[in-house]
Amino acid sequence: MESILNEFIILHVKCPFCETSLMDRARLVDGQPGIKLSVETPRSKGTILLSAVYESFNYKCDVEIVEGDIVKFFCPHCLQRITDSMMCEECEAPLIPFLLDFGGKVLICSRAGCKAHFLEFEDFREALYKILHLGEYKDAIPENIEKEREAREIIDLLKDMEHKGYQYEGAESSFELLVRRHLGKYKPFFELEKTTIIEDQFSRKGGASSSAMIIVIVDGERRISAAEGDGPVNALDRALRGALENFYPELKHVHLTDYKVRVLNPEDATAAKVRVWIESTDGADSWTTVGVSTDILEASCRALVDSIEYKLLKTIERKFKPFM
Ligand SMILES: [Zn+2]
Ligand SMILES: [Zn+2]
Repeated sequence: MESILNEFIILHVKCPFCETSLMDRARLVDGQPGIKLSVETPRSKGTILLSAVYESFNYKCDVEIVEGDIVKFFCPHCLQRITDSMMCEECEAPLIPFLLDFGGKVLICSRAGCKAHFLEFEDFREALYKILHLGEYKDAIPENIEKEREAREIIDLLKDMEHKGYQYEGAESSFELLVRRHLGKYKPFFELEKTTIIEDQFSRKGGASSSAMIIVIVDGERRISAAEGDGPVNALDRALRGALENFYPELKHVHLTDYKVRVLNPEDATAAKVRVWIESTDGADSWTTVGVSTDILEASCRALVDSIEYKLLKTIERKFKPFM
């Protein structure tokens, strides 16, 4: 079980005939309630508990099952034989269909040892949401996701980012950008080529001020911008918007309303990562983005870039939606 998806997908299945749950909460396989069925092998009859963990082929059975056997499955409630008219593409044994609690079907091969199986969803987006318990991430899943492959990629990506210290709860805007970037359903509005921050600790005004110099590329055009601010993040924000406002005037009304920093692994000070949340508003809406790095300025910069990208994305969508 290599795919990270497996850790998430615990199947809750029902008999396709009587629609009674087949889950046995008292008996566990792979640490989860098993899927209980009556079985008939070429030699004997018994009871089997299949693992409810997707793509785990573990089971517990009170009769011997020999690899290559075609096993007949029966519902322990209505006693019907559970089988499908579809045959396994790999070994031509009948497929066994189960209804999924969250809609759709899972089909497994009836031949012991054959690992052919697949999931069929009615509403893919809805199913993904339920499987992942995504909660507030739901709106971040693009409506045009249809394929299981894409869903797996998103889940793997999400786990990978969480492993790196990202946390998208409360920062759905960054999650939406992450998913869109990954699926290629998104073209960045600008590229940040360079950032330089100068922290002036001996400012004549008194107090620490900072200067930021950045270079952005928009549609092949390079633009340099510099700005001062109260602290590096403020300076960076000003410089970035200063450069981009020429291309995207809608950024004039955007400003930061909140900035939060959390150190993630302080016990390992040399490799400590920081997570930065930035809340932005354009006067009408507000949104939160997140950035993670071992360097606080880089983490801030990532959150800032996401914030601006998100604003531009939403503006474009609003402009063009009536025509789409
Ligand atoms: Zn049944
Ligand atoms: Zn098969």
